[in-house]
Amino acid sequence: MANFMSAEVTQVSHWSDKLFSFRTTRDRSLRFENGQFVMLGLDVEGCRVARAYSIASANYQDELEFYSIKVPNGPLTSRLQHLNVGDRLWISAKPTGTLVLRDLRSGKRLYMFATGTGIAPFASLLRDIETYDRFETVILARGARFKADLAYGDHLVKQLRDDELIGDRVRAQLLDYASVTREPFEHVGRLSTLIVSDQLTRDLGLPALNPNMDRAMICGSAAMLKDISTLLDRRGFECSPRIGEPGDYLIERAFVG
Ligand SMILES: Cc1cc2nc3c(=O)[nH]c(=O)nc-3n(C[C@H](O)[C@H](O)[C@H](O)COP(=O)(O)OP(=O)(O)OC[C@H]3O[C@@H](n4cnc5c(N)ncnc54)[C@H](O)[C@@H]3O)c2cc1C
Repeated sequence: MANFMSAEVTQVSHWSDKLFSFRTTRDRSLRFENGQFVMLGLDVEGCRVARAYSIASANYQDELEFYSIKVPNGPLTSRLQHLNVGDRLWISAKPTGTLVLRDLRSGKRLYMFATGTGIAPFASLLRDIETYDRFETVILARGARFKADLAYGDHLVKQLRDDELIGDRVRAQLLDYASVTREPFEHVGRLSTLIVSDQLTRDLGLPALNPNMDRAMICGSAAMLKDISTLLDRRGFECSPRIGEPGDYLIERAFVG
């Protein structure tokens, strides 16, 4: 069983009836690479209920941030969504995960494809100056059902652009592309549909996705990962086969289902 450390909730923000984020204290011994995940747990009637959670904060920050779904009858999130400042939870001591910069081959542009809570590891990576050092252009392509589901990402992008330390780099290098599937919006459609038609790159004024120049990270449901991986494979991109072996793109499940 994972080794857990106790943490205290320091801030809770509700973004919609289905989504919220929270911050916790960070044990000084917890080291992680931006983009990794931990197990997050609560004790329920004497048993620990723990689930994988991407760390949304960057590894230089004093606190940890998480972005969460609220699953109505979910063993963890039906409780987690009622967290208040001062409550305690468990965080596993050994972060891991595939979405780490060192496993991407060099390239010109980095695409981050996220649906739903899949934006969480990118929130961490987008706070990392190395992301902007390694890639000339970074594209955050985020998909959701409704506009209301984009609120956390909207806030994140604004925060990054206003950031004292990296704001200049973000304003110069980060392109934000948000699309919804269930209501009218500036960009409409699933990310996979917008990729296959090259609509996404056209809208951004960029050349079609090409493995010579472009790199990608994908985080979302199993179905979304499969769809976008297949599209990238068809264009000649190579997926990193495992942690420590670089590829043209990397994938991580945001949830099992
Ligand atoms: C590597 C990894 C990283 C993850 N990172 C996050 C994260 O940063 N934030 C987060 O909210 N969840 C994340 N998850 C999912 C998380 O582990 C839990 O599944 C989620 O918190 C729900 O827990 P639960 O016990 O309430 O319900 P569960 O019993 O775990 O899930 C019930 C059902 O809810 C649906 N579901 C679960 N999680 C999500 C989700 N995030 N978005 C949409 N539908 C979902 C699925 O259909 C699932 O079968 C991650 C999962 C993996 C594998």
